[in-house]
Amino acid sequence: MDSFQEQHLNIIIETAVQELRKHRFDAHAFSDRDALLKFIMDHATGAETVGVAGTHTVRALGIVSMMETAGKTIFDHWRFKPGDPEELACRRKQLTCDLFITSANAITMTGEIVNKDGCGNRINSMTFGPKKVIVVVGKNKVVSDLDAALTRIEEFAAPIRATSLNRKTPCVKTAQCMDCDSPERICNITSIIHRKPMMTDLKVAIISEDLGY
Ligand code: SF4
Repeated sequence: MDSFQEQHLNIIIETAVQELRKHRFDAHAFSDRDALLKFIMDHATGAETVGVAGTHTVRALGIVSMMETAGKTIFDHWRFKPGDPEELACRRKQLTCDLFITSANAITMTGEIVNKDGCGNRINSMTFGPKKVIVVVGKNKVVSDLDAALTRIEEFAAPIRATSLNRKTPCVKTAQCMDCDSPERICNITSIIHRKPMMTDLKVAIISEDLGY
């Protein structure tokens, strides 16, 4: 990235952070992983249980193993076979954990957090239940506004996610959302968090690198 691209990126991220703060989210920008991981570990102090959403971003940063090393009890449903009772129980435990760590499908420069979910454990845990929530996103997920957020999900994030899950949904073949009625559909709930949920300490951490879908 040259200095002009860096300047452009900084404006985008800083605008998102400022608008999120106006909406009472505790938002921060990070230019390197070390600072981001320190921020997350600092906020994990005192948390005995840590829930982890189904997110590539959090795993790519090594956050799960970092939390385990720190002695936390991890609720990570990816450790179980989908549909098994243990997997369902794990998703339920995420709803009441001390700290929930997730990514998002999109963060807007107008200060919103946007997601589409299949089950809802992620978006439910983000809004009420866990004592603290940290949303970690790479720069690739910051978009201009709500329309751009939904477009990002429908033309990029959801089709790739469906592909990664080996779903038999039309988007796997068309590379864009067809608003399907497939029983394997992964987009069953749309969530826009417009302002900080009343009773949830919700932090947003944006890092200046591409992460996740
Ligand atoms: S609604 Fe269906 S077609 Fe659209 S992205 Fe989701 S799974 Fe794919």
